[in-house]
Amino acid sequence: MSKTIQGVKGMNDVLPQESAAWLHFEAVSRAWLAAYGYRQIRTPIVESTPLYVRGVGEHTDIVEKEMYSFEDSLNGEKLTLRPEGTAGCVRACIEHGLLYNQTQRLWYTGPMFRHERPQKGRYRQFHQLGVEAFGFTGPDVDAELIVMLADLWARLGLKGLELEINTLGEVAERAAHRADLVAYLEKYQDILDEDGKRRLYTNPLRVLDTKNPALQEMAENAPKLVDYLGEQSRQHFEGLKALLDDAGIAYRINPRLVRGLDYYNLTVFEWISTDLGSQGTVAGGGRYDGLVEQLGGKPCTGVGFGMGIERILLALEAQQVALPEPEPDVYLVHAGEQASRLAFGLAIKLRAEGLNVVLHGGGGSFKSQFKKADGSNACYAVVIGDEEAANNVANLKTLKGEGAGEQVTLPLADLAARIRA
Ligand code: ATP
Ligand code: MG
Repeated sequence: MSKTIQGVKGMNDVLPQESAAWLHFEAVSRAWLAAYGYRQIRTPIVESTPLYVRGVGEHTDIVEKEMYSFEDSLNGEKLTLRPEGTAGCVRACIEHGLLYNQTQRLWYTGPMFRHERPQKGRYRQFHQLGVEAFGFTGPDVDAELIVMLADLWARLGLKGLELEINTLGEVAERAAHRADLVAYLEKYQDILDEDGKRRLYTNPLRVLDTKNPALQEMAENAPKLVDYLGEQSRQHFEGLKALLDDAGIAYRINPRLVRGLDYYNLTVFEWISTDLGSQGTVAGGGRYDGLVEQLGGKPCTGVGFGMGIERILLALEAQQVALPEPEPDVYLVHAGEQASRLAFGLAIKLRAEGLNVVLHGGGGSFKSQFKKADGSNACYAVVIGDEEAANNVANLKTLKGEGAGEQVTLPLADLAARIRA
């Protein structure tokens, strides 16, 4: 026998016992998105590499070391498996004129690819659901996105998520802050780690976004962007906070929250689960008013978030939130040649009447089939032996709930109506 072929490291299969949680998340999230007037956009998984270099930022972790990039063997075009959804969404909106003189509320979902070290909550193929709102300038949309996520946690039954917010100000404000920050960090050259040294001049804000305990104090005392904010930026942040206060949403202002992507301005936020250790961020987002222009479109404001579906499902699991299991109406038990033939046709008829029916396969005694029926989570077993088949009747046995264990014999034609009642 030849050697078995394994899946790719960091890219997971979703097995049948896990897919109920995914389907549940998808059902809840679709209803939730509709409640806020968001419409779906679907873009390809492969985009041209320069889209991400320009749209995510040359000096980000994603572009520096996490992208799956390759050359098209036919024409040498540089392509990348999407590491995130915003750049592709903006590209499509510009290409199809969706941002011209109009606002858009959009969402997307699907696999994303990042070449990271796999661990719990961090994978090489993972799934995001993201939302982007274009053409809105006020802090009200920023607040709505945050409120919307709080609503999703409630709909999912997820508790204990913490919200951190910050403001990044506008470009000129960041430039003034940056100059002072670089001067400050230069004094700490010799204690900076490799990443820190590399980023000192390319992306000094990111030096503060460090998980290295030895650098915490230095990061704590660095010049703070809030002290550089102009009146408008300050008002935007105050407006956001007021709306969150009105909605009764608790938050912590984290001045060091800068997020991994280069293109954010003003509002940034993260929702963090305390159940997931260092992979605790389940959703992050913010405003990126310059991105559309950066990617070649007419100026258009944008704000959005992305959430990691695997991390949300891990948090649900950690909190032991009960998930709805698939529940067939009927498990169809049959033994004997005549009976089996009849059962095959009966399953088709019952499904045509709107019932979910699992037809037993593979033979076996009534006893072993009943075991399967119990394990199937079905509400009823319909049982046919040759004697029932000869008389055109079946036994209907209630497996769950009120009347569990009861059994009646019914004409085949009456089964569907009885089960639905
Ligand atoms: P982190 O700091 O954990 O690396 P990030 O800032 O890179 O996160 P974003 O680019 O903002 O993450 O992506 C949005 C969300 O997608 C994250 O909050 C997280 O829930 C999820 N996510 C990001 N990278 C991964 C990954 N490799 N595996 C699983 N989920 C991920
Ligand atoms: Mg990351």
